[in-house]
Amino acid sequence: MRADEMVSLYFREAAATIDLDERYYEVLETSYREIDAQVPVHRDDGSLAVFRGYRVQHNGARGPYKGGIRYHPEVDINEVRALASLMTWKTALLDLPFGGAKGGVTVDPSELSERELQALTRRFTSTISHILGPLRDIPAPDMNTDAQVMAWMMDAYSSKSGYSPAIVTGKPLAFGGAPGRREATGRGVIFSLDEAMTRRGYSLAGSRVAIQGFGNVGTYAAETAVEFGATVVAISDIGGAVAREDGIDIARAMEHVATGRSVVEMDDVDVIDGDAVLTVPCDVLIPAALGEVITTANQGDIKAEWIAEGANNPTTPAADKLLYERGVHIVPDVLANGGGVTGSYFEWTQNIQQFTWDEADFNDRLSKRLREATNETMNTAQRHDISMRRAAFCIAIQRVADASKMRGYA
Ligand code: GLU
Repeated sequence: MRADEMVSLYFREAAATIDLDERYYEVLETSYREIDAQVPVHRDDGSLAVFRGYRVQHNGARGPYKGGIRYHPEVDINEVRALASLMTWKTALLDLPFGGAKGGVTVDPSELSERELQALTRRFTSTISHILGPLRDIPAPDMNTDAQVMAWMMDAYSSKSGYSPAIVTGKPLAFGGAPGRREATGRGVIFSLDEAMTRRGYSLAGSRVAIQGFGNVGTYAAETAVEFGATVVAISDIGGAVAREDGIDIARAMEHVATGRSVVEMDDVDVIDGDAVLTVPCDVLIPAALGEVITTANQGDIKAEWIAEGANNPTTPAADKLLYERGVHIVPDVLANGGGVTGSYFEWTQNIQQFTWDEADFNDRLSKRLREATNETMNTAQRHDISMRRAAFCIAIQRVADASKMRGYA
């Protein structure tokens, strides 16, 4: 099943639960607007490489389109569509004044020099700039893009339109970035997980956690989990996975990967099979890397009772159903990783007001939003006796449907 079909399936199941009038289906299920364009780049060796770049605006009923830009060799229009739609549901669930969008370029950025990466980013930004704007569509980092890429995007946009920090979020702190935004996705995973576990009578403190992916989401999720008293027993990155019964020293692991090395080159840990990070004995599993990693083939081997989805779309619908049936608690992506876009909202709102908050204020508000959304999701799940994923979609779809109706779209 394609990624966009998976999200459609979740949409339809939730829409049926809330008895959504059929006439809303098409407007809420399909994208509003899609760009699929060439991104030509002059390589350092003088050759011309032509990449493919996308920006999909899924739904803008509740506010400007919002969502990240990813650089990955497997990006295609179907994946970007799926992720754009997830952004619509995520922003609605978190009650942020945004719609949903996503972008990407089909490229392996590790094969480009820094100059080539900057040229690609500037060309891609110019190509989509006519549909961007601080009150129209606001990109952010996603897989393999970071504050530097956002700085180039902002510069490319601002050179035509005047100083526009609110055109992207996840910017460097040197101009317009918000202290706390970089850590917000990973921290948010733990805030929502902690709230959900406590409400169901579990305790994150004392739990054993395994994390797939040690990038922007996985590192700060690990750091925050340790702050909450959990023990991180396994982590992984593109180079493989490592485990340690007594707990991995996360501060040291973060210093280690900051030097550009893989976790498998760390001392004092056991190297395990890369995929085994999903199935090691633990209480909580946090997939924080690619999509579609939890499937019917491996879900039966997962020992964790809790899964908090740091990644977008890490679980296939068939595996999701089986896990729910056997009682595994899944804090779904649209909730668990919603701290990223919530942090983006905090950054954007500071940019448009030209006023800055300190990091403690940022984190308090982040925690409050994530915990509220978690409780709303769990109330709905309880009321209908459905999974947290379906409940999250039910809340989000209702909000977007109401806005669409009032605007006269549907
Ligand atoms: N890329 C992140 C996500 O998938 C953040 C998006 C944003 O901040 O706009 O939620």
